[in-house]
Amino acid sequence: MHIGCHVSVRQGYTEAARIAQRLGGTCYQYFPKNPRSLQIKSFSRQDAQQCRDFCKEHGIISIAHTPYPTNLCTEGREEQAAMVASVRNDLEIADACGSIGVVVHFGQYKGNHPDPLFGYQLMIRSLNEILEGWTGNALILLENNAGQGNKMGMTLEELVQVRALINRPELVGFCFDTCHAFASGLWTGGNWEEVQKRGEELGYFTHLKAVHLNDSRYPTGSHRDRHADIGYGEIGAERIGELIRSRGVREVPLFLETPAERPGGHKSEIAFVKQLFASPQ
Ligand SMILES: [Zn+2]
Repeated sequence: MHIGCHVSVRQGYTEAARIAQRLGGTCYQYFPKNPRSLQIKSFSRQDAQQCRDFCKEHGIISIAHTPYPTNLCTEGREEQAAMVASVRNDLEIADACGSIGVVVHFGQYKGNHPDPLFGYQLMIRSLNEILEGWTGNALILLENNAGQGNKMGMTLEELVQVRALINRPELVGFCFDTCHAFASGLWTGGNWEEVQKRGEELGYFTHLKAVHLNDSRYPTGSHRDRHADIGYGEIGAERIGELIRSRGVREVPLFLETPAERPGGHKSEIAFVKQLFASPQ
């Protein structure tokens, strides 16, 4: 199994991989550039290559995460072009670092177009533009939403359907966020078998490349996206244990995006999840 957490690249990409390793992880997530802006980053190819080599040597895998302002449903042509260029830049950095892909939240349409499918059309247009001519190995990893503010992207059906409708679906995989799934009401804590069966019927799990492993501060169906440490939230360690040992998830790398409030921080949380994974059913 692979478990790790989100780490900072403040000291470079290679150092980020080293930090992940020191925390006891065999995988990690990072922001390829400033998470608060869509500004293009010219990055050090040498550092990225070193990071790639280090990870290969130590059996570490990684994923990148797009900056917060990234919204695949951006409507204005100019804003959309800036967003597309930013995600393409993230893909280039992720690819240079040898990462599996770049996590992008399912889009949230904030306009008032009368057609309820308009937001999805914008999203498909954005994905087509991002992936046009892309020759790298890094994938786009679409993440499910919690339903905070907008209800788009809370179901596996939407994820699978958007992937199927773009020009190059082979370049898109999925990232399942446990806190978002719980807060959205998709996973209530007690219905994993059902969610898994539905996901298998849809072909969701075939393309599942990463799990954002987070507990939730708020109850299921609350649509509130607040992550908690594993075992410190409304989902609880037992249900998280069931999920990570399930057939749909057990071979997928797990990435913590938790506040690390427990004693010992992420290092002890990573050890805790390893134990949870190994503990008998
Ligand atoms: Zn997430």
